[in-house]
Amino acid sequence: MSTKKENREEVPSEEREYHSPSSGIFFKLKKLLFKAKSDYQKIEVIENEYFGRVLLLDDLVQTSERDEFFYHEMLVHPALVAHPSSQNILVIGGGDGGALKEILRYPIKYACLVEIDPKVIDVSKEYFPWLSPSLEDERTELIIADGIEFIEKADKKFDIVFVDSSDPTGPSASLHERDFYEKLKKCLNLEGIVVSQAGSPFYHLESIKKKDAFLKKLFKNVCFYTSPVPTYPGGSWCFVFLSDEVQPLKIKRDPPRGLKYFNLDIHKAAFSLPNFLKDLGSN
Ligand code: SAM
Repeated sequence: MSTKKENREEVPSEEREYHSPSSGIFFKLKKLLFKAKSDYQKIEVIENEYFGRVLLLDDLVQTSERDEFFYHEMLVHPALVAHPSSQNILVIGGGDGGALKEILRYPIKYACLVEIDPKVIDVSKEYFPWLSPSLEDERTELIIADGIEFIEKADKKFDIVFVDSSDPTGPSASLHERDFYEKLKKCLNLEGIVVSQAGSPFYHLESIKKKDAFLKKLFKNVCFYTSPVPTYPGGSWCFVFLSDEVQPLKIKRDPPRGLKYFNLDIHKAAFSLPNFLKDLGSN
């Protein structure tokens, strides 16, 4: 058997992400661009005819060229239009640079990104050049560390913290626990906001409810909102906006021009929850 043939056989023809034991999403591989195991996770970049480049960590889709704007715009803009004067921003996770790209559309002073896995940053710089310039912006400080360890020692306070973590398995598990949010609260300025991705309302409802229960004990305003994200489980994603002082529907500034999804009508609509999620949150 020739080496050429062996190599051909190693490359699968499609990548699958299971959303339950019997359902999920698949991507036909136009090309496997990158595959390696870092100290923390399996990292893959594939090329798909429809979605373009897709980043997977431990077989879970993180972002795709075609639909990244839904998730990144909806993670970031609701807090930035609601905060009265945000200048100092923290992102935990988010090593692909997509959330940072949206944050840097505003005239902020400083954005600190704390990513545990430097390999994700390297891969994004090489394969996702439309996201990664944000990682080298002069207002950005990159810190390679575990998010929870970083906030335990942090001597700065932030106006907004975005938790752009992966799902609650692997290195992200601690970023979904009560202890993390308790510590995070101590890093917030008076009118501080935390926004966190919370999972699929369809597939992860139990974990969203668990989070809701402990968040209500920590923050006065616990406001869940949703957005479509075509490549994520169920196609619809949940985020949570947390603050003691700021209410999301009191808009303090216009969003930047040139966004693909977010506008102020979408902002208001996103906080209207369907009946099966109505019990979530404090408002
Ligand atoms: N939008 C994404 C999603 O929900 O699929 C998340 C994207 S971003 C790539 C998630 C990042 O969080 C990964 O790069 C991962 O390495 C990082 N991460 C995981 N656990 C972390 C931790 N404890 N501290 C800091 N970063 C962490």
